[in-house]
Amino acid sequence: MPMRNQTAHKSMDYPGNLFVVSAPSGAGKSSLVRALREFDARVSPSVSHTTRAPRGQEKHGREYYFVSDQEFDTMVSNNAFVEWANVHSRRYGTAKKALEERIQVGTDVLLEIDYQGALQVKEAFPNAVLIFILPPSWDELRARLENRGEDAPEVIELRLTNAAEEMAQVAKFDFVIINELFESALFDLKTIIHAQRLKYAAQRSRRAETFESLNISVPN
Ligand code: 5GP
Repeated sequence: MPMRNQTAHKSMDYPGNLFVVSAPSGAGKSSLVRALREFDARVSPSVSHTTRAPRGQEKHGREYYFVSDQEFDTMVSNNAFVEWANVHSRRYGTAKKALEERIQVGTDVLLEIDYQGALQVKEAFPNAVLIFILPPSWDELRARLENRGEDAPEVIELRLTNAAEEMAQVAKFDFVIINELFESALFDLKTIIHAQRLKYAAQRSRRAETFESLNISVPN
């Protein structure tokens, strides 16, 4: 079992929405999140810290903050992470301060993290919206991993084994998207985000003047 962040964080109210998207490798999470962000500039990504090395054109501070094991250890002991986890033998974590500052000023933040991190975020922020993306079938998941052409056959087998463990966590998530047709899955993701923004507390704060002009008195 990978190591988990054992630190308990205080839950709190905040005006920004916190969306967490998890999926097994090959389910299409990154493409869906990229397309969502092109459509909706109000969804702000979170840049994680990781101990893995940069790949290709990745830049420090853009895809990730690439840090040493020692730097990561220091952040863990300073309680600087909302969540962190070991994923594929490397550590990844979401810095607490930057995240809290953004949701406190009403920014909608989206975390693209693994299921272990997602479950820790839910403990720290019970209002966080956890979204799990499933592939339509094992055959399709395998085909997508093979067609990506990024991984050796043994790595694909490992990703499929890990996928079974990851998908077993789906019941702990609030929403499930089955990514069979990309456009339909993207619509589902947009719908979840839109619905969250229509909740009473969000509307009451965003449209305060409308509520005032309507003289709505809400019983305590
Ligand atoms: P990659 O190294 O391919 O960018 O990411 C590997 C996995 O780590 C992905 O499932 C990704 O969602 C997850 N991941 C990225 N950042 C974080 C993070 O801050 N926390 C956790 N728990 N997982 C993360």
